[in-house]
Amino acid sequence: MFNLILFGPPGAGKGTQAIKIAEKFGWKHVSTGDILRSEVSGGTPLGLKVKVVMEAGQLVSDDLLIAIMESVFVNNSTVKGFVLDGFPRTLKQAQELDQMLAKHHESVSLVLALEVNEEELVTRLLKRAQEQGRKDDTEEVIKNRLVQYHNHTKPLIDYYIEKKLYREVHGVGSIDDIFAQLCTVINP
Ligand code: AMP
Repeated sequence: MFNLILFGPPGAGKGTQAIKIAEKFGWKHVSTGDILRSEVSGGTPLGLKVKVVMEAGQLVSDDLLIAIMESVFVNNSTVKGFVLDGFPRTLKQAQELDQMLAKHHESVSLVLALEVNEEELVTRLLKRAQEQGRKDDTEEVIKNRLVQYHNHTKPLIDYYIEKKLYREVHGVGSIDDIFAQLCTVINP
């Protein structure tokens, strides 16, 4: 099983590229943001619990995310690979992911980051706010999401560099050019 983590700050283009990678290699795309948003729009108890947190641009609790990922793995045990998009986002999530995979005699195969400068990120996120009306894409919330990224998620880079799993691709340019660069690194 190829377990790919597509890494990067909000607005780096992880969702777009994750869909393309999953399609090309026949892997399962798992976006924790999409999973949580569908719980919110479905008005489920879980959705009601996370709505305020998400709309404020904060991170949902590690325990909840880990439980979601456990059920994703259990329910997709026959897939050839995963493209994780938006998970892990904290050191605890990364450590729990390693343990979860180890239980199934699996491990993270590659952490592939999209590198995009902060100014470009804010521009993209504001544009997405207009196009998709995402409640967590207002200017203040965007700033908060980037702060969360810097404080909690960015430190994971060192965690994966140490494990020799971390690679970076420049995330500015055409979608197809970036995709082609990602594919040359993946090479499963
Ligand atoms: P995304 O679409 O990946 O930007 O996720 C949207 C929002 O969902 C984030 O701002 C968080 O509130 C929440 N979220 C998604 N994935 C995670 C995660 N791995 N850990 C904590 N919160 C998450």
